[in-house]
Amino acid sequence: MALDLPVYLDNHATTKVDPRVVESMLPYFTVEYGNAASRQHEYGWRGEAAVELARKRVGEVIGAAADEIVFTSGATESINLALKGVAGTHIGRGRHIVTATTEHRAVLDTCQHLERYGFTVTYVQVDRHGLVRAEDVASALTPDTILVSIMTANNEIGTIAPIEEIASVCRNAGVLFHTDATQAVGKIAIDAHRLGVDLLSFSAHKMYGPKGIGALFVRSKQPKVRLETQIDGGGHEHGLRSGTLNVPGIVGFGKAAELATQECERDGERTARLRDKLVEGIKEELDDVSVNGHPARRLPNNASLTFPQTKADTLMMEMKDVAVSSGSACSSASPEPSHVLRAIGLSDADVLASLRFGLGRFTTEDEIDFGVRRVVETVKRVRSRRMAMSA
Ligand SMILES: *Cc1c(COP(=O)(O)O)cnc(C)c1O
Repeated sequence: MALDLPVYLDNHATTKVDPRVVESMLPYFTVEYGNAASRQHEYGWRGEAAVELARKRVGEVIGAAADEIVFTSGATESINLALKGVAGTHIGRGRHIVTATTEHRAVLDTCQHLERYGFTVTYVQVDRHGLVRAEDVASALTPDTILVSIMTANNEIGTIAPIEEIASVCRNAGVLFHTDATQAVGKIAIDAHRLGVDLLSFSAHKMYGPKGIGALFVRSKQPKVRLETQIDGGGHEHGLRSGTLNVPGIVGFGKAAELATQECERDGERTARLRDKLVEGIKEELDDVSVNGHPARRLPNNASLTFPQTKADTLMMEMKDVAVSSGSACSSASPEPSHVLRAIGLSDADVLASLRFGLGRFTTEDEIDFGVRRVVETVKRVRSRRMAMSA
């Protein structure tokens, strides 16, 4: 069977939009183009009904009620709203925030912004598997702490944090807890209320939905979380995020969420099996390959591998028919060595010799076989050239 080349193994950067999602969106460009805020005619009413159905489904995929979902343009905006929003409403109570060194840039850069406005931030270290320990979060808390933000699953190494334990530490201390669950929703089962989180960010394009649409879960009771609005004008989304709603995007997100609710478990089992096949296939043929991240607490679709005696950039250049990433693809606008791989103790040389493989719903067995062959032959070639040069 002919493969679509390059083989796409970069599902942490973004995912293909599921054809069923595309189909659900199309009418909202062509016939159902009403503004969901138009209260005076059918077009508006139908737009609003579609948005509210999607809101219910997007809530369901994380175990939340529809009225706890605020639609945004993506996880970056959700994270900004969560962190700056809590900072704004709690500034009179305290000015200290706790997060981790391995967070996504959306969290780290927002924290840096708040530091310029008088907040202090503690960056908790992780262990060599990238795990944040709840005890370390507990000891970072001060009477001045207003918010903790720890990601559910890491976008580079796939490590899954002990969210329930961290949430309970926060709850006991009366501190709000936000989690960036962008890589987790649709990949592993997530229930915001059972986990005990107060705020949770996620994004459609990481779960087979369209780009440019995301959501923030805002707990509605025990406690009801209050946020300072970041985008004013018109009072949409309970006044938390003004602007005409992206109806087609929201409908697509709703469909993607519905599919994730139904297929997450099956997708997870399938991608984990293929991921294991990829890693084992590579390790069988190559000496000296290490797997980054936690051996057990990890996303089913992630493999972060280090190939000493190579450079990831060279590998990628010499296997252009396999789409993977080195370092963090999300910040590939600024190609610095990954702060995540550094945080788990890799040397600079090992960081620069690491590739991230991200599998997804559409990854096939043939693609994995092809990927293994390409990686193995490319690493062997690059290593033997290096040996010849140093001989
Ligand atoms: C992709 C990603 C983001 C940013 O999401 P956008 O919707 O692209 O803004 C944030 N956090 C994590 C962990 C991500 O993987």
